Amino acid sequence: MNLLMVGAGLSGAVIGRMMAEAGHKVTILDERDHVAGNCHTERDAETGVLVHIYGPHIFHTDDAEVWEYVNRFETFLPYNHRVKTTSQGQVFSLPINLHTINQYYGKTMRPDEARAHIAEIADTSIETPQTFEEQALRFVGPDLYEAFLKGYTMKQWGVSPTDLPASILKRLPVRFNYDDHYFFHQFKGMPQDGYTAMVERILDHPGIDLRLGQRFSREMAERFDHVFYSGPLDGYFDYALGRLGYRTLDFEKFTEIGDYQGCAVMNYGDPDVPYTRITEHKHFAPWEDHEGTVCYREYSRACGADDIPYYPIRLMGEMEMLGRYVEHANQEGGVTFVGRLGTYRYLDMDVTIREALDTGRAFLKHAADGTQMPAFSKPPL
Ligand SMILES: Cc1cc2nc3c(=O)[nH]c(=O)nc-3n(C[C@H](O)[C@H](O)[C@H](O)COP(=O)(O)OP(=O)(O)OC[C@H]3O[C@@H](n4cnc5c(N)ncnc54)[C@H](O)[C@@H]3O)c2cc1C
Repeated sequence: MNLLMVGAGLSGAVIGRMMAEAGHKVTILDERDHVAGNCHTERDAETGVLVHIYGPHIFHTDDAEVWEYVNRFETFLPYNHRVKTTSQGQVFSLPINLHTINQYYGKTMRPDEARAHIAEIADTSIETPQTFEEQALRFVGPDLYEAFLKGYTMKQWGVSPTDLPASILKRLPVRFNYDDHYFFHQFKGMPQDGYTAMVERILDHPGIDLRLGQRFSREMAERFDHVFYSGPLDGYFDYALGRLGYRTLDFEKFTEIGDYQGCAVMNYGDPDVPYTRITEHKHFAPWEDHEGTVCYREYSRACGADDIPYYPIRLMGEMEMLGRYVEHANQEGGVTFVGRLGTYRYLDMDVTIREALDTGRAFLKHAADGTQMPAFSKPPL
């Protein structure tokens, strides 16, 4: 078959590779001048530091097949992600753990004492928390909520935590031990040559025709037997039902000599600091040695028509509009919507690859059975 992938990010690359290996003819379009989508990495010309151009990306997964898949195309070196936060004039350890609690209260509590202390200040009158704020007050109490969660959340989402659902703060956001690892997954690491090098290798197959700097338009679909579309779902329909809400990010890049902040990511929880965090990229590759350093101050704001959509908002209004776009998509035929933009969901890289592998397999099965591939292999609602 003659297949089109819209987008050369992880979704398009993984599905495209599987289709090419199965003997199909694959064209991959991307409107950007590089592959790897939002995971794109590039060496900074001035310092030589490998920069995560669209924000920091750390690979972590419990999915053995996905881990094997990425290691087929790239060497992953050990990397343990840790995050600090500057709040109320001090630096604290994150996620909130026993060190954070002891630092914040100026104490030397053991786990059970800290647990008892938090239980005492937590607002247990809130039986079933509905909002983010209620959830935080219920589990950590007002002090830690104000210092570590409230300001950061307001800056990140642009709305008060009283207007966000409790589900955003899914689990108990406190650890009563000194474990400050950000991710607990079985497999973690950083690609030695960066994500872009990895995706270039995934796309390096004689059955793949890669075209960069080309924007998809719906008329193109007629020339192909099937389209896998990893662009924005609403964009496919020319925003006919309105724009699905996203947050976008602005990165203010600066370079320094030496080590600017001593860690990869420093959050800023205070509401009067306009940015949410500073990322210092060279700490993602501790095995490299560079005299200079590259940092990004990160600002979050509502996504306009000409901005890059980063985080889907998925509040009530958006979900209702999403439902109507899904109905349109289900009637379209010949196209499958994939990835973070095509399904309007936040997806980590490992989940993106898992879904791409599953989608590719489902397509090959439908093709073998002579049945129609649905618009979504993973429903967005
Ligand atoms: C700030 C941020 C930090 C993240 N950090 C992590 C992390 O630490 N760990 C982790 O596992 N995941 C992280 N992620 C998630 C990760 O970025 C995604 O899992 C991944 O990028 C999804 O890949 P994708 O191919 O679905 O989408 P994308 O990477 O967005 O690729 C889609 C591609 O389609 C192209 N495109 C769109 N529309 C068109 C069109 N009309 N015509 C042509 N081309 C088009 C775009 O240019 C883009 O290249 C993070 C995401 C963000 C936003």
